Amino acid sequence: MRSPLATDILDRFLRYAVVDTMSDENLVADKHPSTEGQWDLLNLLVSELKELAIEDIQVDEHGIVIARIPSNLDYEVPTLGFMAHVDTADDVMGNGVKPRVIDAYDGNDVKLNEEYTLLRSENEELASYVGETIIVTDGNTLLGSDDKAGVAEIMAVAKLLCSDPTIKHGEIELIFTSDEETGAGMDNFPYDKIRCEYCYTIDGGKRFEIESECFNAATVKVHFSGVSYHLGSARGRLVNALTMASYFVNSLPQAESPEATDGRYGYYCALAMNGTSVETDLTVYLRDFDLAILDRRIEALKALAQATEALYPNGKVSLDAKHIYYNMVLVAKDKPIAMNSLYEAGRRLGMELHEELIRGGTDGSRMANEQKIPCPNIFTGGHNLHSRFEWAALPAMEDSARLIAQIIQVGANL
Ligand SMILES: [Zn+2]
Repeated sequence: MRSPLATDILDRFLRYAVVDTMSDENLVADKHPSTEGQWDLLNLLVSELKELAIEDIQVDEHGIVIARIPSNLDYEVPTLGFMAHVDTADDVMGNGVKPRVIDAYDGNDVKLNEEYTLLRSENEELASYVGETIIVTDGNTLLGSDDKAGVAEIMAVAKLLCSDPTIKHGEIELIFTSDEETGAGMDNFPYDKIRCEYCYTIDGGKRFEIESECFNAATVKVHFSGVSYHLGSARGRLVNALTMASYFVNSLPQAESPEATDGRYGYYCALAMNGTSVETDLTVYLRDFDLAILDRRIEALKALAQATEALYPNGKVSLDAKHIYYNMVLVAKDKPIAMNSLYEAGRRLGMELHEELIRGGTDGSRMANEQKIPCPNIFTGGHNLHSRFEWAALPAMEDSARLIAQIIQVGANL
């Protein structure tokens, strides 16, 4: 038998999954949200929030919805936020999604269509859900559990709070964003409109997995200026900017590249090179969990720029390094309320939460970096994100919602 909570989450997920909300990074510079379909889902959420008799709903022109459920306590506790994004990725088609519910998974491979099959052998997590409800694609699109599972879980908890006054809670802030997959989701975020002192993104994957650490990131722009000369009489005179840039790229340590690292190891990555023999621009991404090591890599690139100049007399190398975002664990350590509440909620529910590292950034890390609001990430129950083999497990989705509800109750007693 499916619990009322699981039923509500499933209904919501199926309703949200069929809305075409694929975002487009090529449009996001001009338009935010980048695609109209994201408004369709945001508007649907607003009407559902109103049905729950939630009155405090703000819709930002950039496609961000902020809703508040007022506290039902007679004492003050910090406002607590939950955040999820309505857009889907475009790695495979993210529109035209036709989710298929498998009510009692039989433990075998799942044929998605004539061409594609979800293999049990490649998805060890499937074994935990034999006899349970899973949701798969028709093999043509992604499923959109990233992050519509998160949206459905937050909405289901909102309904729970609004319909059961015996659940004691402080002020709860629900935040739905757009264009997360383009990386620009927080570019226009109305920080002045939020009140939460700690927040969680519901945008992870496997059951019981949580994330509080992401990379520190820097982008380094390197410019190489050569000396042009008629090629027929260039000896001893011409300095080729492309040669200098190639030398620079080849000198980056291969053992510290994305393709040679995982876990806690950071990297250098030459990302783009454009130019001619006279002027060449190079972009290098630097990533590390440890800020001091990230800065050590910046210093190494500065030294390499000098060495390149020394090797190519009259050539010039200039370098501009910028920190882009920081490991959100710095804020989480400073304000332990978010991680402490998360672990306490997990303990009360008997869930063995385990932490994974995010080898990238999240909207939560932007929230942490820019507002000093700790914002760890919680599992949604989705797997194989951004893929036609994406699937979601309803028991894990329910557990995510139960964890959210428990964090809220922990928050009522702070
Ligand atoms: Zn996501």
